[in-house]
Amino acid sequence: MSIPGARFTSRTVRVKAPGKINVSLDVGPLRADGYHSVASVYLAVSLYEEVAATSTEAPGITVSLSPASTLDLDGVDIPLGAGNLAYRAAAIMADVSEHATGVHLEITKRVPVAGGMGGGSADAAATLLACDALWNSGLSREELAHLAAELGADVPFSLLGGTAVGLGLGDQLSPALAKAQTHWVLVAADYGLSTPEVYRTLDRLRAAEGVDTAEPTAVDPAVLTALRSGDAEALGRVLVNDLQRAAVELSPALRDTLGSGESHGALAGIVSGSGPTVALLADDSVAAESLATDLRRYGHAALAVHGPVPGARIISDTH
Ligand code: ATP
Repeated sequence: MSIPGARFTSRTVRVKAPGKINVSLDVGPLRADGYHSVASVYLAVSLYEEVAATSTEAPGITVSLSPASTLDLDGVDIPLGAGNLAYRAAAIMADVSEHATGVHLEITKRVPVAGGMGGGSADAAATLLACDALWNSGLSREELAHLAAELGADVPFSLLGGTAVGLGLGDQLSPALAKAQTHWVLVAADYGLSTPEVYRTLDRLRAAEGVDTAEPTAVDPAVLTALRSGDAEALGRVLVNDLQRAAVELSPALRDTLGSGESHGALAGIVSGSGPTVALLADDSVAAESLATDLRRYGHAALAVHGPVPGARIISDTH
């Protein structure tokens, strides 16, 4: 609310929030409500989205994409209105904030769009935190996590960061306190996959096999043990993603990407979430950098990252 006669001064809060990979992802059968239960180990990695939220005198929410984005956004379908997850996050925060103003959100995109790394979810998590600061809403992390879950199953994890086990729709999170670093090479595709379509494909493949799938209720403890000790070789043996075969069915080229990662020295490779980004596990940071360099030489969009990294955090706050 503005005070009549007072001069408006705008303020910008900038927040960064990480993308994620699912180190393990077990997917249950299609539920009556149309969703799938999952049991997953999430790892936040050092590839960040950034949202700069600037208060505006005019009411309402506007969204733009920053020219500093490292993705080629030509021809990429990112809605800038109410369809954008960051817009929806700001709208939810405005509803619960007494001192909400208009806001402009400038998003710097680095996480591949529709890549299975929760890029839109990271934008939403960053926006929740930025608007909370901008409007002095004073919500606790727990209250923010609650709003995050309303926006999408992957949004709470981008707020939390680190390593966590996700059950239910992936939003029932328990931090896993695994701090040892693992090193990965992300190979982005120049197209996206629709998450609902990947799930539908998995249901179709399973129906054709006639095998009953159990509801997942826990993750493989070996994944957490390997992450806690940072034992990349052991971790490489237990990576699992039930969605991988559906992603490969929709995009057979992923098989080649996984194969070329392994033939260039990756310990193991996995499709991240619903894909098509592939995450290749390396021995250490040096091996990851050299694997990324090799793959780039063969024309892949490869980037070395590490995890776990912290969740969404404020990087600047300027008047
Ligand atoms: P997830 O792994 O959470 O399913 P994803 O990483 O595969 O998601 P996103 O990049 O988050 O995919 O976005 C998927 C779709 O959502 C995009 O194709 C786009 O149309 C829409 N979208 C809405 N808001 C955003 C946003 N802020 N950034 C990118 N895409 C967005």
